[in-house]
Amino acid sequence: VDQKTLKNHYKFVVIGGGIVGAGILRDLALHKQDVLLLEKGDFSSQTSQGSSKMLHGGIRYLENFDFALVFEALREKKLWLKLSSHIAWEDRFYLPVYKNSKWPLFFLRIGLFLYDLLSLFKNPPFKILSKNEALKGIPGLKEDGLTGAGLYSDGIIDDSKLVFDLIFDSIERGASAFNYHELTKLTKLAEHYELKIVDHRTGKNHTITGDYVLFAVGPFTDQVLNKLQVPWQNIILPSKGSHIWIKQDSLKLKDAMVLQTKDNRIIFVIPQRGAILVGTTEIAISADEDMFNIKPTKSEIQYLIDNLNDYFPKAQINLSHVIASFAAVRPLVKSSTSTSSSKTSRRHKIYKPLENLYVIAGGKYTTFRVMAQDLCQKIFKDAGLHYNKKLSLSSFVKTSLVSDVNKIQITKNLLDDIIKNEAPLNAEDLLLRRLSLYSPQMYSSADELEKLINECSFTNDKTNQQ
Ligand SMILES: Cc1cc2nc3c(=O)[nH]c(=O)nc-3n(C[C@H](O)[C@H](O)[C@H](O)COP(=O)(O)OP(=O)(O)OC[C@H]3O[C@@H](n4cnc5c(N)ncnc54)[C@H](O)[C@@H]3O)c2cc1C
Repeated sequence: VDQKTLKNHYKFVVIGGGIVGAGILRDLALHKQDVLLLEKGDFSSQTSQGSSKMLHGGIRYLENFDFALVFEALREKKLWLKLSSHIAWEDRFYLPVYKNSKWPLFFLRIGLFLYDLLSLFKNPPFKILSKNEALKGIPGLKEDGLTGAGLYSDGIIDDSKLVFDLIFDSIERGASAFNYHELTKLTKLAEHYELKIVDHRTGKNHTITGDYVLFAVGPFTDQVLNKLQVPWQNIILPSKGSHIWIKQDSLKLKDAMVLQTKDNRIIFVIPQRGAILVGTTEIAISADEDMFNIKPTKSEIQYLIDNLNDYFPKAQINLSHVIASFAAVRPLVKSSTSTSSSKTSRRHKIYKPLENLYVIAGGKYTTFRVMAQDLCQKIFKDAGLHYNKKLSLSSFVKTSLVSDVNKIQITKNLLDDIIKNEAPLNAEDLLLRRLSLYSPQMYSSADELEKLINECSFTNDKTNQQ
């Protein structure tokens, strides 16, 4: 990552290095624009690493009749399964049905048919399974009251990695991107914007100018715009979601599954990366909460464990099976018709509170390319520039160094290369986002890895220098 050369002026400055900011950066880089991305923490260290890691249409949104969103997301799922096949794959999901389930089998048959239809039958075809077929597919599943299961497919993606790949690809095409650079002050001058930036690696302040400032700060939108004194009416309905990673041998699962919970929600259970991901919760939080450091509570972790034990009573899952946990905040945009986060549409919205200042919020991870495209198309139209819709379908010319950590041998040389080229500030940045390991236990030789990481030196880490 080009960390040294912050220029005095850029045509476009994108604020926020999650999936949406990275998507905008790439679209502008593909259009050969002069563009800079600034991220306050590490790239993808917020919502975009806290997702359920699914490229999906969202079967749940069918309940809200949000067919257009499901159609669009299924199309994007297919596209990114192809463009990022090094970090994404299609998985089978079992959805067991019990006598008292919210979605009975006949309802599931209609829903899954609609889901396949909205994918224009490009999804692998769904199936409705008998009780015995369900038990064969999911060893250890509770038998009592089971009536059968639905079986359908959705995509799984390494959520942080795609952000990195979009950013590295953009840099290769001439863009700039800086992690640990926070926008702290924004002033509208006659011809452009003045941006004060603090570099959290060194503590130094920088002042640059930009013609256009584009905010892609997800759930932080209201907090950031209010702090920067941009004229703004709050739009975010913040909703927290937590996940746990449990040990791979906690359950004998080969495929993913969906649990219908007693409180009428759904929880995904997805084996991947040497562990099993379980989530999510859904809790409304206050607009002024410190979302940047959000963590799962004990009761959220217990809620996920209890739901697993409902479906797998013999497995007796407990805290000792949990190897890591994480939380994030959904960047939902308030709607006039709904105050419930599950019913709030996942569509995105674009705002222009000041001349040449744009804000994009809402949406889903899966639809980030459409979000970036809608924003760039609008800006280009306002500026009288030509926008080429096909460019964002381009393949990567560059990706990050490690795509699947469990398929390679980690060496000291490789870690040194990552430190040199991918700008991690500390061991967490290296482990979590460059190697995609939420815990060393997710790597085949955990002890060896921990030893190698302890030997790494992060020259820019202020905490290391003290
Ligand atoms: C629990 C959960 C599960 C989800 N599961 C899925 C899923 O499976 N599939 C799916 O499609 N979607 C899913 N989503 C939705 C998806 O994760 C989000 O829509 C998406 O990640 C939002 O990306 P973003 O770039 O808008 O926000 P973020 O990733 O939060 O990026 C915004 C960035 O702005 C930075 N920032 C803030 N202030 C400043 C500043 N002053 N200067 C510089 N940078 C700043 C922040 O540090 C942050 O990194 C899920 C969301 C949650 C919470």
